[in-house]
Amino acid sequence: MNFTVLTIFPEVIDSYVNCGILKRSIGHGLFSVNAVNIRDYTLDKHGKVDDYPFGGGAGMLLQAEPIYRAYEAVVEKMQNKNPRVVYLTPQGKQLSQEMAKEFAKEEELILLCGHYEGIDERVLEEIVTDEVTIGDYVLTGGELPALVLMDAIVRFIPGVLHNAASAQDESLSDGLLEYPQYTRPEVWRGKAAPEILLSGHHAKVNEWRKEQALIRTRQKRPDLYFDYLRGR
Ligand code: SAM
Repeated sequence: MNFTVLTIFPEVIDSYVNCGILKRSIGHGLFSVNAVNIRDYTLDKHGKVDDYPFGGGAGMLLQAEPIYRAYEAVVEKMQNKNPRVVYLTPQGKQLSQEMAKEFAKEEELILLCGHYEGIDERVLEEIVTDEVTIGDYVLTGGELPALVLMDAIVRFIPGVLHNAASAQDESLSDGLLEYPQYTRPEVWRGKAAPEILLSGHHAKVNEWRKEQALIRTRQKRPDLYFDYLRGR
């Protein structure tokens, strides 16, 4: 899978993907990330990519032309000339595990990051296929949302997580939150890990985990718990 991120701060994207699991996976060729600087595509001799909104109002808007030119340049190099283009915006559809899993089926994905007061509507109409929000709050730019979306997606790419089962087991993957987990030492500051987990009895461990997942979801996210019960 290839991600192309259209942004005025490519260094934000590069620094995040240059760490840990993402860095290793990119090194193994499991996916690639190309952060493209929209500023490289402006025709303005001072490198300007923003301007005042027509009709007045606070802040600046990213202009349509540099974004469109950046988009054209990246699509030109792709096999698929109609990739999905996701605009990260507080006006989008709420990101979920299901959505991330769905996006993981794409070979090419373009992520468009806004800044300032946003982006000239005309270019959004022209190129955007999906709008995604990471929550009901407003950030200064689309870079963190793009990274959040990308991170959630790549966990579904085979090989990115060492253990293929871990994405399946994770909170929300089956509609429930994950059960509590423990690691060494067996007793930490007087608190012992649950005995059942040390028993080596897999069926009983699974039963315990399922029960804990139900208890925990009911306590922390009753909305999910009742959806789960309804869906069974
Ligand atoms: N004026 C815009 C509005 O009211 O919809 C908000 C602009 S916001 C200050 C600047 C940029 O940050 C947006 O264009 C978008 O790319 C990004 N952004 C901010 N909050 C976001 C969120 N919750 N989810 C996804 N992207 C967000």
